[in-house]
Amino acid sequence: MNHLDTIMEHNRSFVEEKKYEEFLTTKFPDKKMVVLTCMDTRLIDLLPRAMNLRNGDAKIIRNAGAIVTQPFGNIMRSILVALYELNAQEVFVVGHHECGMTGLNASKIIEKAKHQGVSDNTIETLMHAGIDLERWLTGFDNVTQGVMKSVQIIRNHPLLPAGTPVHGLIIHPETGKLDVLVNGYE
Ligand code: ZN
Repeated sequence: MNHLDTIMEHNRSFVEEKKYEEFLTTKFPDKKMVVLTCMDTRLIDLLPRAMNLRNGDAKIIRNAGAIVTQPFGNIMRSILVALYELNAQEVFVVGHHECGMTGLNASKIIEKAKHQGVSDNTIETLMHAGIDLERWLTGFDNVTQGVMKSVQIIRNHPLLPAGTPVHGLIIHPETGKLDVLVNGYE
């Protein structure tokens, strides 16, 4: 059975047996917080457990690297929606050690894309259209720098509600240990 079939089969019994009941909650975060973290597989369950977050406690946004690169991109929009529409009142940016976005190499990704069927022509067309792939496919030199930069963009955003605490943390992907880089209350 492929993944889709396996998922659909599991899902039928999940719903029939009402296994969802323990997850019932509302769209408003009980702890009034929004967390931006990484999509790393090791953090799927570990991060909420390590931060004592249960279903319904927080808005969690995940991307590669817990990065905000654009003040007017979709990550920042999600944060603002959480703050204005969903009653969140503070922001936690949680990066992690051993992140795949550390030292991400754009040239390597472009090479892999070419090996996997993207034509040279397509790459050239994008470059000619002014799309800076090298810049776009860039992560950060180290996770501390990544978190600090994201916190800075959020904190300085012109649409951020006044007085919103923005915290920066780093989580260990094995132990779940958190270190505070930026205490947003200070
Ligand atoms: Zn990561």
